Amino acid sequence: MAKKKKKSKGKGQKAAPSNKSSNLPNLVSDTVMTRQVMGAEFDPSYDDLGKLEDMIANGVNKDLEKIKVLFVSEASFLHTGFSTYANNVLMRLHENPRIECAELGSYGKASDPRAHSIPWKFYSNVPETQQEEQAFQANYQKLQFGLFKYEEVMRDFQPDIILLHRDWWMDEGLVNHPITKKSHVIWMACVDSYPQKWEWMKSFQEVDTLIGYAHFGRKVIEDQSRERLAGLNNIQPMDVKMVAQAGVNPEEFYPLDKAEVRKKYNIDPSAKIIGTVMRNQPRKLFPRIMDSFSDFMSQHPDTAANTFLLLHTGIPDVGFDIPESMFRAGIEHRTLFSIKCSSCQENFVEHWGFHTRACRSCGAKTLVTPNTANGLNNEKFNEVYNLMDLYVQGSIAGADEMPATEAKACGIPVTCTDYAAMYEKNRNGGGLPIRVETMYTEAETMQNRAMFCRKSLTENMEKVLSSDFTQKRLSAEARQTVLDHYNWDLTAKKWEAAIMDADLKGRKVWERKTIACLIDASGATDEQVDMTINSISPLVDRVVVFEGGGDRTFGGIGLIASSFNEAQESVDEDWVLRLYAGEEVQGEPKTLSSEADTHWDLEGNIQLMTLEENEGGIRMDKSLIEPRFGPVAYKEGDKTAMIVTSSQKAAGILTQYESFLDQLEKHKQDGNEEEFEKMREGFKHFYQHLGALVDQDVKTIFHIIKRRAQ
Ligand SMILES: [Zn+2]
Repeated sequence: MAKKKKKSKGKGQKAAPSNKSSNLPNLVSDTVMTRQVMGAEFDPSYDDLGKLEDMIANGVNKDLEKIKVLFVSEASFLHTGFSTYANNVLMRLHENPRIECAELGSYGKASDPRAHSIPWKFYSNVPETQQEEQAFQANYQKLQFGLFKYEEVMRDFQPDIILLHRDWWMDEGLVNHPITKKSHVIWMACVDSYPQKWEWMKSFQEVDTLIGYAHFGRKVIEDQSRERLAGLNNIQPMDVKMVAQAGVNPEEFYPLDKAEVRKKYNIDPSAKIIGTVMRNQPRKLFPRIMDSFSDFMSQHPDTAANTFLLLHTGIPDVGFDIPESMFRAGIEHRTLFSIKCSSCQENFVEHWGFHTRACRSCGAKTLVTPNTANGLNNEKFNEVYNLMDLYVQGSIAGADEMPATEAKACGIPVTCTDYAAMYEKNRNGGGLPIRVETMYTEAETMQNRAMFCRKSLTENMEKVLSSDFTQKRLSAEARQTVLDHYNWDLTAKKWEAAIMDADLKGRKVWERKTIACLIDASGATDEQVDMTINSISPLVDRVVVFEGGGDRTFGGIGLIASSFNEAQESVDEDWVLRLYAGEEVQGEPKTLSSEADTHWDLEGNIQLMTLEENEGGIRMDKSLIEPRFGPVAYKEGDKTAMIVTSSQKAAGILTQYESFLDQLEKHKQDGNEEEFEKMREGFKHFYQHLGALVDQDVKTIFHIIKRRAQ
């Protein structure tokens, strides 16, 4: 076969936009996105074991005796995709004596027996007490991904590196938490489409090392961050260090004797089976696959004579009415479902109508399709894949689309929508691309999604099923590709290499910050001074009382200074908390020190702002602020502010801006105009002052009760 000649570069040809075809001006502005990433070339050089070993041996951390690594994910002993990934990586990292691993796992309890057999340190994100449970449920959407225990775990384990690998909306809360700055963050960004929202790109930019789920994800981040529109959104060009595609265990997913498996499942050994393993959700185009299968039966009756479509999916779930689609396509006599008995747990493959039939094993009428909570074990899964002659993945997008890799491991040729991570799986061995018919922008995510071409899928069905040679060739390629590029040893080596090559922040960031409290006793009574000393002493490392021009001593601690600033020069603690005698501060000792600790990277004083709660809103108590900070307009740029609120409600509103908005909305809906206006005004007022007093990036609110004595 003649190879296509590549166009030679040079000869005065320029990469500039072509102006030979037309001299018409381009009316489009320069914000136009110039790239359309459909997929990326699979670059095997990322999988070079020698190169990875070299990075591990010679990385910047090669001389460190111990690197502390915290993986935040879903508990590694569960059976979710994230759990499986985290477990496979942690198991292998743990073998490196220089890496000390810990895990913060969602959805798995610390009391779970499986948690006890984990050889690395396991922290659970699940609440233990009833009180914790309440706090957890009140903000479940945010806290479920690890945030509930995150800060506590960070303080306890004090990791050098945090490993993350979930969707943006699961991990961004962790990435943006102030304490995260103490560690080097390695994030495997879950990118399933192009383009990403700018908000997501901003989070990617925050982390120290980016890894791709697939070559597609790497390309999306690298290309999109180089768009002009990226610059206008304050996104700098980003580089993704490596691609750490998920592995498959080749001893669990492997080719079986097809005749034997068919026999076990009561299927004619000469039948041909096209199958898919996808969750029944809108992003998996089941009806389109069924319509394509119908086309295939009409257009290629010879090949299709004894061919079946096998679906392993949940009915109903959150997606399509699959039986209706099946009848519409006229393929009910050729559609098989992978099912299980919820009584005896046996699994079968049967035609539609199984829900009315008795289980062949135990006789109960409890045959159901599998779902995420009640699926098959890997041994059964392996058999289901092995029933197939061709595997179809008809998704509109995908960061990985794992079942296509599992099918390949079983030696099944795959054909996938030619977009996103599936694009590279179509090309790196054992795959055939299904052409994309059209792209569209999805409203919810503003990402480009792909609709595959029915004709192209039909052609691929014919191509594979009509030729034993093609099928065998693709089958061998498929298995080999998995052995070479989708194995967990390789995946874990990449994380290990990224860890050994991570630029660490050092142990110093975990050293505790010290706090001194300066109390201005000018004009105060002894009772007022005592009260303030007593309330603050347990919370700080040192208390100094000063009095301008006076000569009183206060229980052995005292100072004469003409101003706060002058007094401040006499202490060398990291933070200085400034109070007036007569002010009472209440709170947990650990809260104040941990708050200071969270701001480890900021120089300056702890400044206090007192907020007073009004009916339906918040108003700042100016009389307490102004003497401390000067007029409201005055701002000291190099100081870090802490906000101390006098009310639980105020703290709640500030920390949960969203819930405030909900409340506001509720008042609006209820027609409670007076409450609505009051709350709105109060909040506006508060933010105006807040903006004038503190830096915009104040992220944490500290809650202690404080009042000025009469
Ligand atoms: Zn049964």
